[in-house]
Amino acid sequence: MFRLSQLSLKTRFILSVSTITTCALLFALGLVAYHNFHTYKKDLQENAEMMAEILASNIAPALLFEDKGTAREAFVILDGNPHITAAIAYDIHQQVIAEYPANNSANVAHKFIFHEGTQFSTHYLDTYRRVTLSNEEVGYIWLRFKLDILYERFKQYTYVFAMTFILAILLTLFLISMLKRLLEKPVLQLMATAQQVTQERNYRKRIIHDRKDEVGTLLDAFNNMMNVIEDRDKQLLEHSEKLEQIIELRTQQINHRANFDALTDLPNRYLLMDRVRQSIRSIRRHGGKLAVLYLDLDRFKIVNDNLGHMVGDKLLIAVSKRLVKALREEDTVSRLGGDEFLILMEGIENSEDVENIAKIIIKSLQKPFEIMDHTLHVSTSIGIALYPDDGDDENAIMQHADVSMYQAKKSGRGQYIFYKPVFEIDSRHRLCMEIDLRKAINNEELMMVFQPIHNSTTGKLSGFESLLRWNRNGVEVNTPDQFLPVAEEIGLMKKLENWVIQYVCIFIQNLDQHMIKDLRFSINLSPGSLRDPKFVKKMVETVARHHINPSLLEIEITEDTFLEATEAVYDRLNSLKEYGMSIAIDDFGTGYSSLSYLRNYPVNTLKIDGCFINDLETNNSSQGIISSTISLGHSLGMKMIAECVETRGQSDFLKIHQCDLVQGHFYSRPLLPDEAMDYIHSCHLSLSRQWKSDTYTL
Ligand code: C2E
Ligand code: CA
Ligand code: CA
Repeated sequence: MFRLSQLSLKTRFILSVSTITTCALLFALGLVAYHNFHTYKKDLQENAEMMAEILASNIAPALLFEDKGTAREAFVILDGNPHITAAIAYDIHQQVIAEYPANNSANVAHKFIFHEGTQFSTHYLDTYRRVTLSNEEVGYIWLRFKLDILYERFKQYTYVFAMTFILAILLTLFLISMLKRLLEKPVLQLMATAQQVTQERNYRKRIIHDRKDEVGTLLDAFNNMMNVIEDRDKQLLEHSEKLEQIIELRTQQINHRANFDALTDLPNRYLLMDRVRQSIRSIRRHGGKLAVLYLDLDRFKIVNDNLGHMVGDKLLIAVSKRLVKALREEDTVSRLGGDEFLILMEGIENSEDVENIAKIIIKSLQKPFEIMDHTLHVSTSIGIALYPDDGDDENAIMQHADVSMYQAKKSGRGQYIFYKPVFEIDSRHRLCMEIDLRKAINNEELMMVFQPIHNSTTGKLSGFESLLRWNRNGVEVNTPDQFLPVAEEIGLMKKLENWVIQYVCIFIQNLDQHMIKDLRFSINLSPGSLRDPKFVKKMVETVARHHINPSLLEIEITEDTFLEATEAVYDRLNSLKEYGMSIAIDDFGTGYSSLSYLRNYPVNTLKIDGCFINDLETNNSSQGIISSTISLGHSLGMKMIAECVETRGQSDFLKIHQCDLVQGHFYSRPLLPDEAMDYIHSCHLSLSRQWKSDTYTL
């Protein structure tokens, strides 16, 4: 079904405008035509009546006298009028007196039907009139006018009407087309722009115009709408750009975090592994060598544990900076975590290149670090593995550098060691040791040995140093140097030392029961135990449980531990001292402590390190160090012990220089409990020998 709404706007507009115009024109023209036609008709009628009037007055005497000649003459006035087709004059008896024109067929056809006035028929206008003379009716006249002129006029009107109509329609159409163009152009432009904007998503498009009409307002509205859309689009764009930037930044940060160490910003293990892998690939194609240096800081754990993580972190950052500075630009320094660093050196010619770098690294870390009011001494142990000499792939190279580092650590601080296949066996041993050590206490594989300590002047037995042994799998006895570093690493130290303390307490308790009450036992303690806030309480409880006089116990702490101890550790040592125990500084002389420094701390005894005693007989400076240390220690009220005394010469020197106590192989090796009892017995002849060795087993 046809619907107006289906037509285009343009068609609807043209249709409605033309319909309105046509109707308006028809109505207007019709009205004019009707009015004119009637006016003319009226004029005609009046004219006819006037003519009849004049004729009637002229012809009246002739009709009265029925004078046909005069009557005919009266018709003369009609001659000039082309519209009169016929006229007849009747006398009072309705007899024709005169006709105009003579013998006209119309006249013949005319029948006298008198209706005064004018009458219109299709083609004529007939006028009847009474003719009077002095108010007396004397006859009638009939005049007939042609209506040609009326029809002529009508035709003319129709023509003018048609022409006007056509002209008006044409004008209307022209105006419509003008108007259409006026309206259509901006609408089309609007449409085209809107489509373009949609397709190209170009929100900068605007319609330029200078119109002030409604269409102009519409276009302005469109432009304003586009402004809003463009602003929105810009905002969206900016927002999405910002989002993209954030995403990019986050991606970079994630990548950075995945590849770089958060603390030092050095490449991490993954990035380094990747670089090693790539470098190995390149070496496989083009030849060459690379080296991986595995670094582990010595004594870092002590710093971290005693001075806190903040100092530890700052130290690691400072170390990483020194490492970067010490190396070539093409070398990669990475941090594996903790105090472990890996260095990748590419394009090296031979092992001497690497050796030189290792020396530079060790030297660069020798200068003390000033961190948060602390002067820290750090050294590093370096294990080195080369590709292709020491392994087939990156994993082998890394692992071999790692085991070499353990070897370097074993051989003392600040060493570097190149990988040797034999280290592998060591590293496997170490793993087995870890597993075995965890089972050592439950398997009752731990044992104590006691090394006698004598008065240097009198030779009297003064006490024993308690030293730990591990009878591993009941097959081989391991010394502390072999297993304590592993125990420390796997967090077993506190457990082991608890065991030692209990064992020594039981041993002293047994001696006490046998009336041996004057021998002092020293116990070595690691920093880990002293960092335990509950340590003092536990120690005091153990001592009390076994009814031991605290003065029979001496705690040995290495000089390093003592130097790096926190206030809390000093407080704990003070508490133990106040409780009655003695505190000894072990391995004195190897660290950096000065005697004046020690004066302010709870120290009773200094134990001169074995290395000074070792070369005592050959090294004058060692002699000087020992003698001055002894006299200074004494001046500060401290007792002096010398360890590792192996010869009579050493013993004599120490005796002469009034070292209070001595211990070492010259007097006795560390003894098993039974042997220690025998030893005590031989020293105290009064001592009975009824003890059983199983008494000391925990
Ligand atoms: P240290 O405290 O300096 O102990 C002295 C070490 O020197 C002992 O080695 C001892 O056997 C050894 N020694 C004694 N006399 C001589 C001698 O005349 N010549 C030589 N060359 N050496 C001698 P050991 O028992 O192997 O202990 C090594 C280190 O292990 C000890 O050094 C001590 O620091 C640590 N240690 C031992 N037992 C324990 C313990 O129960 N707890 C802790 N934390 N450390 C312990
Ligand atoms: Ca010791
Ligand atoms: Ca020592």
